[in-house]
Amino acid sequence: MEIYKENQLKIYNSLSKSKELFKPLTEGRVGMYVCGPTVYSNVHLGNVRTFMSFDMVFRYFLHLGYKVRYVRNITDAGHLENDADEGEDRIAKKARLEHIEPMEVVQRYTVDFHKTLQKYNFLPPSIEPTATGHIVEQIEMIKEILENGLAYEVNGSVYFDVLKYNESAHYGILSGRKMEDAIHNTRALDGQSDKKNPQDFALWKKAEERHIMRWTSPWSDGFPGWHLECSVMSTKYLGEQFDIHGGGMDLKFPHHECEIAQSQTCSGKTPVNYWMHANMLLLNSQKMAKSTGNYILPNEILTGENPVLSKAFAPSVVRFFNLQAHYRSILDFSNDALEASEKGYYKLMDAVNSLNTIEASSTSTFDVAAWKKQCYSAMNDDFNTPILIAHLFEAVKVINQLKDQKSALTVTDLEDFKNIINTFVFDVMGLTNETKKDSSNALDGVVELLIKLRKEARENKDWALSDQIRDELLALGIQLKDGREGTSFSIN
Ligand SMILES: [Zn+2]
Repeated sequence: MEIYKENQLKIYNSLSKSKELFKPLTEGRVGMYVCGPTVYSNVHLGNVRTFMSFDMVFRYFLHLGYKVRYVRNITDAGHLENDADEGEDRIAKKARLEHIEPMEVVQRYTVDFHKTLQKYNFLPPSIEPTATGHIVEQIEMIKEILENGLAYEVNGSVYFDVLKYNESAHYGILSGRKMEDAIHNTRALDGQSDKKNPQDFALWKKAEERHIMRWTSPWSDGFPGWHLECSVMSTKYLGEQFDIHGGGMDLKFPHHECEIAQSQTCSGKTPVNYWMHANMLLLNSQKMAKSTGNYILPNEILTGENPVLSKAFAPSVVRFFNLQAHYRSILDFSNDALEASEKGYYKLMDAVNSLNTIEASSTSTFDVAAWKKQCYSAMNDDFNTPILIAHLFEAVKVINQLKDQKSALTVTDLEDFKNIINTFVFDVMGLTNETKKDSSNALDGVVELLIKLRKEARENKDWALSDQIRDELLALGIQLKDGREGTSFSIN
């Protein structure tokens, strides 16, 4: 269903620094590119948060009825250890340290990346191109930039001439940096560099003797610069101009700034209409990063094997935790925060699971249409999942009232209510219906047993015992509710 026609989606565009009404280039279609991982190690939970934010965006577009081409690349060459085009290729370094082929490194971590995302219930992108699969196209783009006079060759390497580009365009348009500041802040070139100016970035690097990952080009045997692959692959699969480009906040500069410069030089057009940046996940109040050792692996969450964690958590709990924050907000990870999310997640699932036991009435006491509108409004306001979740918890309250016959819904309202809840919880947020793990399962069993004993006590008119069971459970935060269908309970 093309429900995008009745939804006015607004997206915060990093380029204009404001929320804009989303208007795709072609009606009914969305082209979206998201920078993928460099496959030299396992992704950490901070990376997963970024990709999860765009998975939610992808899912919402699909729900709205758009035909989406979602491209997320795999960087398997060209990403050096630092942003100044110096140091070793990350993948080559790993291969050297482990005495294996670079492509073995690539294979190992690409497989791991896919496995991880599968566990966390990601939808696969439409296309997942690799840098090494597009060397020919990258060489062609470098030729084009050279022809346009915005790159120069030195000793077999080719660099983008940032100062020259900045004469007719604005290098820094996305990150808000001024050229003068960039000049001021970039460290001076050491004698080794071939660059004319420190701001220039590599399009092609000549490979040193020991560098294994090398390809033949008109300039030297070497490898492409990291920023180039994204310009090449987004143009190839989405066109010179496309709707959305996403990535982590830390990629805004220099990576995305360089992408704009390269693409614009070749096409003469602004490549991207909406730039979206997802914010980071903190651990111990600091950014998660492999380089500092301050990180958690997504698999450790599922096994509980990390000193930060008190136990294992289900993948949907992590997804729920992430979506409780807006994708543009910084999120602080802690065991306590995750435990709080776990409670909320199971409360939501309990309510969803009991939806089918509710019977329709002749009247409605809850305005389903108005509530549905609020859910869409939240998502249409730059994918505001925390507000959506707040509306879903209003629904949880209503479900509990319906179970207690304190609220009523007609057949049509009840159908609509169920559909919307299921759509947002499972299709849009991507949660799965996990069963509670061991200890909570056992607790459920114990409470059910006490409910049975209480029922027997009541049948024997032993009101004192019956009340004692109810009151002492309540003191433990477990509330029994007597209804037409028997006794149910909730844990607060
Ligand atoms: Zn990229």
